[in-house]
Amino acid sequence: MEKVAVVGCGSYMDQGYGCPGEWRCLKAAALGEGNFDEPAAVVAFVKCECPGRTVVPALGMAAKLSEIKPDKIYLSSCLANAKPGCPYTSAQDLAALIQEKTGTQVVLGTHEYH
Ligand code: SF4
Repeated sequence: MEKVAVVGCGSYMDQGYGCPGEWRCLKAAALGEGNFDEPAAVVAFVKCECPGRTVVPALGMAAKLSEIKPDKIYLSSCLANAKPGCPYTSAQDLAALIQEKTGTQVVLGTHEYH
C-alpha cells in the first residue's frame, strides 16, 4: 500500500467547518477515491501555515520523527482548488517547491467530495 502525506491549508482548516482536515482527504485515501488510484496509508497530515514557509520543514520533521518517508505528497483539495486562492503562492508553485525540496512527487488535490 502506498504511503502518503497530505498537506492542508492551515488557514482554511482553522477557520472552516464541515471538514477541513477532518475526513474528506482521509476517506478518499482510505477508499482509493478521488486522486488516489487505490487505498493509501496516510502517514502524515501537515498543516500549511501562512505564509507557507513551514510546510517543507514540517514535512521533513514528520518523516524524520515517524521514520516513514511518504511515496507521494498530496496537497488537499481545499488547498489545491482554493477559491479565493491563497494570497501567498499558487498551489502549482507550492507543489513545485515541495517536490524540489523533498524529492517526492506531489499531487494536486485529494478528493472530489462536496
Ligand atoms: S499560505 Fe496559503 S495555503 Fe498556506 S495556510 Fe496560508 S492561505 Fe493556506
